[in-house]
Amino acid sequence: MIKKTDVLIIGGGPAGIVSAITAKRYYPDKNILIMKNVANGCIPCGIPYMFKSLKNPDDNKMGLDSLRNKNIETAADDAVKIDRSNKTVFSKSGREYQYEKLILALGSLPIKPSIHGIEKENIYPIHKDMDYLKTTVDRIKKAKSVLVLGGGFIGVEFADEISKIAGLKVYLAEILPHLLANSFDKEFSVLAEEKLKSEDVTILTVTQVAEFLGGKKVEGVRFGDGKELEIDSAILGIGAVPNTSLATKAGLDLGRGKGIWVDEYMRTVDPDVFAVGDCAGKRDFYTRKDTSVMLASTATAEARIAGANLYQLKVVRENKGTIAIYSTYVNGLVLGSAGLTETSAKKEGFEIIAGNAGGMDKHPGSLPGASSIKVKLIFSRQSGILMGGQVSGGMSAGEIINIIGMAIQQRVSVTELETLQMATHPYLTSAPTMYPVVLAAQDASDKM
Ligand SMILES: Cc1cc2nc3c(=O)[nH]c(=O)nc-3n(C[C@H](O)[C@H](O)[C@H](O)COP(=O)(O)OP(=O)(O)OC[C@H]3O[C@@H](n4cnc5c(N)ncnc54)[C@H](O)[C@@H]3O)c2cc1C
Repeated sequence: MIKKTDVLIIGGGPAGIVSAITAKRYYPDKNILIMKNVANGCIPCGIPYMFKSLKNPDDNKMGLDSLRNKNIETAADDAVKIDRSNKTVFSKSGREYQYEKLILALGSLPIKPSIHGIEKENIYPIHKDMDYLKTTVDRIKKAKSVLVLGGGFIGVEFADEISKIAGLKVYLAEILPHLLANSFDKEFSVLAEEKLKSEDVTILTVTQVAEFLGGKKVEGVRFGDGKELEIDSAILGIGAVPNTSLATKAGLDLGRGKGIWVDEYMRTVDPDVFAVGDCAGKRDFYTRKDTSVMLASTATAEARIAGANLYQLKVVRENKGTIAIYSTYVNGLVLGSAGLTETSAKKEGFEIIAGNAGGMDKHPGSLPGASSIKVKLIFSRQSGILMGGQVSGGMSAGEIINIIGMAIQQRVSVTELETLQMATHPYLTSAPTMYPVVLAAQDASDKM
């Protein structure tokens, strides 16, 4: 069967959905079709919370109503081949999809390291598939001891969440000396570690899993130092790689990075084929080197650029390059990071100054619901430009990091932040006299 459409999108994750909605906004007369090979998708960022916080795992399903309301078609089908010369995609079910413009929103695949025994039962990589995840949730709820592998934000969120399951012992293994070490400096990482310890999570840093032990099912692990630990399940939270095989088979370039090469407008080497989200290559905001940031927020920003610029270049891209920006939540503690950390900036060779400040996020701080807040800002020493920031605190920290992210993308200077005009209210914010973002900028300015 042959199906013709104007815009074909492969992938029904955040990048695919936002590409479709944006394309419909800019080109309302075009027919848009999303192909997705997972029948029941889920909201990826909500996956950890399917284990306990959400009453029903189905509450985390990827809603498709916004697509139906906009007359965007979906097809549950698996793309297996792209013929670019005939602008046709072939699917596993034997269908042919003909397009004018093609958007690849193929996402990423969880990393499964080549550890002996990793294929044993009860070892779970994270697939963004509702049916698979519902089975995983059921099994983890019946487990006695789980090892979460990987101390990045995904592993930390899983450890925090499953530690709330009664009777379950949780271990979190990380090869580096601290959790969240790729996006936070040590003084912020230790806050997350303290929170997890207070939930009886055993944190094993500088720890490498050498082998999964047991018969058909996992029964234990052996670490690099020879020590063994009894477990009956493991969750792999060690990252993902761009899903690019369909693109490379179609002759699309990967550039020097791991994702599909795209220009500033998300166009691949074929002007009628775009790539967005985790499958697309990214260049670092500060150095233009290839970078492997994979976040839903980045994916949707790219999807908005691609969707708008499919037929003409309508929206000029303002922010060139990708910053890593995300927030996470550990047992009541919010941590946010944007751009470079002090460690990563120094490693890259930047000469920097860090400014620090703390305070309360309401004023006076004795108001009900107030949380203490800690801000660290990283500036270029000579140019005074903001290059990174980290925040910890209560719920307000989740949006403060977005202000910092905006300031980084606009290349705001230390003086601009020191003289920032902001809205303050006793119940809503820190005091204007003690606003932590301003105080952190002042601290850096004093050191310059
Ligand atoms: C547990 C977890 C928590 C996360 N939390 C956060 C967070 O809090 N904040 C944040 O910003 N990011 C978070 N992320 C990262 C975020 O999920 C990804 O960056 C985001 O999903 C990328 O969106 P995407 O649309 O590019 O890819 P995906 O979400 O991977 O979607 C790609 C889709 O394409 C489909 N597909 C692939 N190949 C084909 C094919 N051949 N034919 C048809 N369909 C195909 C896939 O099945 C998939 O449904 C988290 C990730 C995980 C795993």
